[in-house]
Amino acid sequence: MKTDKVQSSSEGSFTSNGAPRVFTVEHLNTLIRNLRDQGYAVIGPVVQDAAIVYDEISSSEDLPIGWIDTQSNASYRLTKRAAKTLFNFTVGPQSWKKYLHKPSVRILEAEKNGNEFAVNDAQPPAKKQAFLGVRACELHAIAIQDRVLLGGPYVDPIYAELRTNTLIVAVNCEKAGGTCFCASMGTGPRAEHGYDLALTEIRESDHHYFLIETGSALGATVLAGLPAEVASESDIQAANRVIATATHQMGRKVDMSEMKEILYRNTENPRWQDIASRCMSCANCTLVCPTCFCTTIEDTTDLRGTRAERWRKWDSCFTMEFSYIHGGSIRTSPGTRYRQWLTHKFGSWGDQFGSAGCVGCGRCITWCPVGIDVTEELKAIRDSELVEAGSIKSKE
Ligand code: SF4
Ligand code: SF4
Repeated sequence: MKTDKVQSSSEGSFTSNGAPRVFTVEHLNTLIRNLRDQGYAVIGPVVQDAAIVYDEISSSEDLPIGWIDTQSNASYRLTKRAAKTLFNFTVGPQSWKKYLHKPSVRILEAEKNGNEFAVNDAQPPAKKQAFLGVRACELHAIAIQDRVLLGGPYVDPIYAELRTNTLIVAVNCEKAGGTCFCASMGTGPRAEHGYDLALTEIRESDHHYFLIETGSALGATVLAGLPAEVASESDIQAANRVIATATHQMGRKVDMSEMKEILYRNTENPRWQDIASRCMSCANCTLVCPTCFCTTIEDTTDLRGTRAERWRKWDSCFTMEFSYIHGGSIRTSPGTRYRQWLTHKFGSWGDQFGSAGCVGCGRCITWCPVGIDVTEELKAIRDSELVEAGSIKSKE
């Protein structure tokens, strides 16, 4: 399908299959209803247990209306405002991987019946699901998981079926979270590809509406069922301003130049021990990370010995067992495990999959119970080389 570059600005551009359109905030419900009528389970952000997480929704009333989040190292707070904003927050503790690369999947069941033994490895058929509110960093995270789990000779069939049945409605960020650094990773805050539809929530004066772009033929079909008008130049400029605000708010960044080489040169940097004195090896950072994909296998049997199941579950390189081979574990200390994680994310991931393994969502900073910050750790390792070379002075 032909792709038109619709609008350019210093902050990026709206690249859409056809001209962007606008629809009123009330018609978000029409979009949700149409998707549900077409058989999609619509999953979107909701407030649960004092955090914004993802769950099935039936109308826009289920969205976090008026809620905003404040995030920093090891800190997450929600505040309710009078303004009836629908998406004025950033990513929470959960990512969409829980619906595509599920935390726990039964991959096999075996039943003994007399002398017979039956094995069933069939998965229940994947249902159609529509993600509403996918941020730019999360689109990049899904693209990374696509490369890991669908690319190469070994395709994960469970992920593949779920992915095929997923429609994505992205939302451009109108504010940057306190721990976000997507701009420096080149992964946001503008949703540029990987979506079927993309929304920008615009609130100017007393006008509250969405600019909507199509990113696929499927998205165009869904959009055709909405009472949307062609966006004017001023609508497009208003949407650009929304995204520019998020870009300019972003307080953290990572300098990725030569990052892989720097990490490879610093396997014995004393900073790893410094991190080890703070890291609790709790694995929170890997569980909240939208790109981490490691799993383990667990077998269970019932007490009668007639039924067995094999489960695939998320695992983490922060556990001692993760690197266990016969004779013991390879990475026995928190420092070596953190070094492995950070060096993989920002270095060797590129050798393996052709991109960084981080999209700058900031979750690992917010949800690390001791507030370890990947941006600070990477800068400390980079700066230690400059100190050694005499380019900058040590802080000590
Ligand atoms: S490493 Fe941290 S900031 Fe990067 S994608 Fe994972 S959770 Fe987000
Ligand atoms: S870096 Fe933080 S979140 Fe990750 S394992 Fe260590 S203490 Fe837990």
